[in-house]
Amino acid sequence: MPGAMCRSDSTGRSGAAGKSGAAGKSGAARSVSRGTSSRGRGSAKSRDRRAITDAPPYHGIHVAPLQPEHEKIRWLKDTRRSDRVRVRKHTCDCMATIYELCYAGGLLFIRRTIRELDSRVAHETDRLITVRMEDLWMRLILGQAR
Ligand SMILES: [Zn+2]
Repeated sequence: MPGAMCRSDSTGRSGAAGKSGAAGKSGAARSVSRGTSSRGRGSAKSRDRRAITDAPPYHGIHVAPLQPEHEKIRWLKDTRRSDRVRVRKHTCDCMATIYELCYAGGLLFIRRTIRELDSRVAHETDRLITVRMEDLWMRLILGQAR
């Protein structure tokens, strides 16, 4: 099994050590892990650590940079006309401007909230059927509409 052989160096090393000390298998393995294969284990550990540090901290959706050619979304004053609005998707909270894909009364719209020091300015798009608004939402995220 070539897969097993190249899976890890430490397996090969401990196997070699097992040959010499078959009587004290656990003892041999322990000494091997402390000595020869410690490098292997260390690299595995640092690999894990690197993966964690490389992984971005938890973020939501970030809108892509605006494309030079993009659709201009018509932003209307936030009317707050429906009481029952469900936010289906929203962009990341770390940005000053947050976009929310909202569902109300069988239609979808996008709400844009611009947060300033101590105020929030909200605007909404027209309400459209799901398919059309999901398409616009996608283009907004991709920087093709704003
Ligand atoms: Zn973010």
